[in-house]
Amino acid sequence: MKTYTPTIGIEVHAELKTKTKMFCNSKNEPTALEPNSHVCPVCMGHPGTLPVINRTAVEHVLKVGLALKSELATYTEFDRKNYFYPDIPKGYQISQYLYPLVKGGVLHGVDITRVHLEEDTARSLHDQGDGSVIDYNRAGVPLMELVTEPVIHDAKTAGDFARELQLLLRTIGVSDANMEKGEMRVEANISVSDTDTFGTKVEVKNLNSFKSVESAIEFEIKRQSALLDEGGTVVQETRGWDEAKGKTYSQRVKESAHDYRYFPDPDLPKLNMQLSDSFSLSRLEEEMPMLPNNKRLKYSELGLTIEQSELIISNIEIDNFFREVLQEFANDPSLSKLAANYITSDVLSLLSENKRIDTSYPKQFATLITMINNAEISSRVAKDLLSEVLFSQVDPKKLASEKGLLQASSDDDLLPIVALVIEQNEQVVSEYRGGKESALQFLVGQGMKISKGSANPTALIKLFKREIN
Ligand code: MN
Repeated sequence: MKTYTPTIGIEVHAELKTKTKMFCNSKNEPTALEPNSHVCPVCMGHPGTLPVINRTAVEHVLKVGLALKSELATYTEFDRKNYFYPDIPKGYQISQYLYPLVKGGVLHGVDITRVHLEEDTARSLHDQGDGSVIDYNRAGVPLMELVTEPVIHDAKTAGDFARELQLLLRTIGVSDANMEKGEMRVEANISVSDTDTFGTKVEVKNLNSFKSVESAIEFEIKRQSALLDEGGTVVQETRGWDEAKGKTYSQRVKESAHDYRYFPDPDLPKLNMQLSDSFSLSRLEEEMPMLPNNKRLKYSELGLTIEQSELIISNIEIDNFFREVLQEFANDPSLSKLAANYITSDVLSLLSENKRIDTSYPKQFATLITMINNAEISSRVAKDLLSEVLFSQVDPKKLASEKGLLQASSDDDLLPIVALVIEQNEQVVSEYRGGKESALQFLVGQGMKISKGSANPTALIKLFKREIN
């Protein structure tokens, strides 16, 4: 068996988050329950209708370009990609060919070729009785297509690249990029070779999870290598991925680009984008939130573990909440780390119980964390107060004091208790004096009991040591 080098390029389509479709005023809600409820003559491709460019969709792609440190177009145009299929009512898809909005850039160490803007197709349903039916709610939804250079050589890197892209799209707010919902769709071009030139590439579609991206690539590398070992040749074709069987299967021989007879759409204006004027790049830059890699750097400086950092970054709402909490602490590392501990354990587990957390009260949560840090409340009490603090606008200080949950830490509060315990437990006290360390735990336990749990155990230990010695 020879050793072959796999070469992989990735293509990703992502539905963009806008109010309306790419070229008309129909609502952008591709998965609306009522089929064909968000359609109009423009997205149904009726003769005589004219498309109008959705500015927000253009800005979303430019934002992706800014985040990838790509080259942004100063001139761009839309092209007709002609093919005949029921899911494309005009007989062509409006896309971009020679002048994409975005060229170059890099993500997760993978070079980007281009990112362009186009419109989504309708959804065909083939299992509805005798014939197929079509829902045009998705037709004309703004879609970005990102293409990478063929620079990936293993399945894991391809999967991680797709994960990182999903995180980026969500972070900058241009797409929900949910793969199960088809909001982000991945295709992989895979070839293997034992020479300096690329082998014949195969395109694999229907990859609707990160796991299937990785499994399909691994399968193709093995299939193509075995084929070459037997003296066979790889056919250039499009293959689908059968998740249940864990196999790719042949779909069709790939059309070459000229089959689409691309030409500039005469119904749309060219965008001679003095970008800074018509699409204010400085405004887009201002609107750009902190990017995942910058968050990773910042959180590691604050002492968060990689796991904590990834958990927070992957949940945009929680991440925004966390960063507002950080502002309350002026980025104090110990408070920040403590807040991260509570967020990645208790807060996320409340979320997983399907409780709707109101993340609009970062100040109260910050106060709660400060109280734990100052030993005003125990961690046990903090856990009890947490859900109230997260679900309503209550002042944790007031809440703890009303419920009698504030920990007593002062000498004034604790000395009478310590004196009483020492008086009642002469035997144990002398054992402790004799060197039996565990005796101290018993005394602290008695003190906690008398205080009905309100005493700060750390303060009690200190006082017992002082009073007995
Ligand atoms: Mn496309």
